[in-house]
Amino acid sequence: MRNSIKFLLILFVFSGFTSTWGFYGHRLINRTAVYCLPGDMINLFKSNIDYLSEHAVDPDKRRYATPFEAVRHYIDIDHWGDRPFESVPRNYVDAVTKFGAFLLVNDRDTTIITFSDSEHSKEFQNARKFIKNNWMSQRYEDEQTYVCDSLMKYFDLKATTCSQFRFVDVFSTYGILPYELGVQQYRLTEAFQTRDVNRILRIAADMGHYIADAHVPLHTTENYNGQMSGQEGIHAFWESRLPELFAEEQYDFIVGQADYIDDKESFFWGIVEDSHGYLNKVLEVELELRSEYDEDKQYCYEKRLGSTVRLECEGYAEAYHRRLDGMVENRMRSSIKAVADCWYTAWVDAGQPDFDRVGIISEIDDRLDKAFGLKRIFGRKH
Ligand SMILES: [Zn+2]
Repeated sequence: MRNSIKFLLILFVFSGFTSTWGFYGHRLINRTAVYCLPGDMINLFKSNIDYLSEHAVDPDKRRYATPFEAVRHYIDIDHWGDRPFESVPRNYVDAVTKFGAFLLVNDRDTTIITFSDSEHSKEFQNARKFIKNNWMSQRYEDEQTYVCDSLMKYFDLKATTCSQFRFVDVFSTYGILPYELGVQQYRLTEAFQTRDVNRILRIAADMGHYIADAHVPLHTTENYNGQMSGQEGIHAFWESRLPELFAEEQYDFIVGQADYIDDKESFFWGIVEDSHGYLNKVLEVELELRSEYDEDKQYCYEKRLGSTVRLECEGYAEAYHRRLDGMVENRMRSSIKAVADCWYTAWVDAGQPDFDRVGIISEIDDRLDKAFGLKRIFGRKH
């Protein structure tokens, strides 16, 4: 093997995050997206609009239940170099292979092998094959240990050079959001194909969440909460405080009918790239405003759910919102349209199943009512 062997500093950085768009924003986005759907599929979604809205925040709740949930909500794309959209492969296995590390352990030392400089080599393809066949089944596990025999058929290794080896997934720690969107789209299409209405609604609600997350500039950076630029708290300021104060009164949520997505991968990556394009403005405008605005009037204390919380004052929030020049509204509108596009595309790809005709709606409503205590807000068609 002639791979570049180098020492790799593996940092398991926990790129944490607060709840994107806040609960308010996520619910609003899923709810409004329903109205963009065409007549043929709208019945199922309208009948369950409360479910889709309420469960828009499930993925954020789940992140406490499994350590592998968090990485689905963001991608710290700027971690991967100056031109990350060129260097990060759009195929997940390629990305994991490119940035991962094989640790060959024998009695005396450990050899670290990486493939970041040899993307087109035969060795890279072998490593990729190994990861696809062995590691993918335990996806999101940071590190897996294998016996050397399992590596032999992929690499030209002498048994003596390795007593045990590990594969370390360095990539996923920094977020996998655009890949997750592909997984969700596939699952939703499959659910439509099998006409499993519970599953359709559950995945559609989740999908809406991840799509909306991808529209937030601060979900595409290592500096996700302004902690690297002295702006701690800017995450919730941008995505929760601003929509809560201004969305209902000022935003226009009429975004038109859902469109079919031809190239899904480009669509998902395009969302992330657009979001990342707004990042500098999000940070710079706030820094600039902070230096000009009366310091005493930047933070206020409000009572919420019985406790006092420190929040950006309304006047300060308004000034920031104005200087962002419609950015939050635009990202929210784009989220709504994209969520509807994804739902609609999955339905079309599944052959446009007719839920009225197969009589599923009434049956599923009863089951959902029992399970979630839902109330229908739209009358049945029959
Ligand atoms: Zn999230």
